[in-house]
Amino acid sequence: MAQIKAPRGTQDMLPANASKWEEVESTLLATAKAYGFREIRTPVFESTELFQRGVGDLTDVVQKEMYTFEDKGGRSITLRPEGTAGAVRAAVEHGLLNDALPLKLCYLTSCYRYEKPQAGRLREFHQFGVECLGTGEPIADAQLILFARRIFDAFGLENIHLELNSIGCPHCRENYYNALREYFSAHLETLCETCRGRLEKNPMRILDCKSPVCKEIAAQAPVILDYLCDECREHFETVKGYLDAAEVPYTVNPRIVRGLDYYTKTVFEFICDDIGAQGTVLGGGRYDGLVEELGGKSVPALGFAMGLERLLMVLEAKQYAFEGDAAPAIYFCNIGQNALRLSLSLCDELLADGFAADLDLMGRSLKAQMKYANKIGALFTAVIGDDDIAGDCIKIKNMRTGEVYESNVADFAENFENLVIQSTLFEGEVENNG
Ligand code: ATP
Ligand code: MG
Repeated sequence: MAQIKAPRGTQDMLPANASKWEEVESTLLATAKAYGFREIRTPVFESTELFQRGVGDLTDVVQKEMYTFEDKGGRSITLRPEGTAGAVRAAVEHGLLNDALPLKLCYLTSCYRYEKPQAGRLREFHQFGVECLGTGEPIADAQLILFARRIFDAFGLENIHLELNSIGCPHCRENYYNALREYFSAHLETLCETCRGRLEKNPMRILDCKSPVCKEIAAQAPVILDYLCDECREHFETVKGYLDAAEVPYTVNPRIVRGLDYYTKTVFEFICDDIGAQGTVLGGGRYDGLVEELGGKSVPALGFAMGLERLLMVLEAKQYAFEGDAAPAIYFCNIGQNALRLSLSLCDELLADGFAADLDLMGRSLKAQMKYANKIGALFTAVIGDDDIAGDCIKIKNMRTGEVYESNVADFAENFENLVIQSTLFEGEVENNG
């Protein structure tokens, strides 16, 4: 029969990579927890309207990239293209904003965008996202940026630079939009069709268009920084002041507008030059209008999202030393049915004590079992035959040193535990969560 392949733009996470993902995710969650963020999990699919309103009707994401379908009940459903809208929806729906603010949420989530697959750009990808709801204070922007930097520090990544901008509020955009309309009107013929449609309602979106022609025109367009209102200007200056005080290096890049409509004031990206054209590993900023837009009270908020595939690309490029899979503490090799039965119980007892333990499931010869134990890197093996059971003496071999120990059956688990403690050479290598 014909083989079925994974859909274009998706990636299987194979066992060889699983521990890398696990390590990355646990570092991210632990860092977030230290900063006071708590995890939220929301559905993979939401009402299409959530993203139309939350992300913005005229964004590339909504206009071109969403996986939208009608379910059997006739509802328009969309696979989440990003995490913020769902998190904010849930916070509003469950009244989380009625508690003491700020509300700090984080998530690890899959996202779906119908994009042209290429290095660092997938149709199913994963994000680590954080949202801090309820504060408009510039110190929150600064701390969020420090948090993002802390993450890169945690992985020892230094070659990542921060680019910063302010895209103001709806108030400052009035004048700015007029300036953009005037500028782009002169190039109307050359703009792509989507951008022509954006000119009236949301000309800032043209600045984020991926079409090379629009990009070239946009490069000379007026920049929002020249149009900020007093409040937004002061907010931006204060954020920069905090970053300077904390000695966080950054570049102001007035061309950053971000791909989602909900952003206001501070926006930022962390970019790595080592992974090709899709170098933005983390993007975020303030979205003061979103909570209200989604039916909640009018509270300011901010957050960021990090692309996990891109983070892993950076880590691979840097040859980051992942911890890798922990080797099993012990592998039971058996000769005969009695030995197999005993192994099953002893193995289970050690597993209950928190050790990673395994036994032969393939009916292999003793020689092949030992070879397999070597292959999986077992730290110890127990070899059990009928004679050993009769003599109540089981041999345990330290696979690193070749030393052999003996134990009776009844005290096997206890003796093994002591053995592990004694073999300090392998401390930390043995999986024991007990
Ligand atoms: P880009 O400019 O690369 O399209 P974006 O502005 O659409 O990015 P965001 O919506 O801000 O990206 O998403 C946050 C992060 O998620 C990005 O910085 C990136 O690391 C990652 N990301 C976004 N789209 C994809 C994708 N299609 N495949 C893999 N990672 C992605
Ligand atoms: Mg995009």
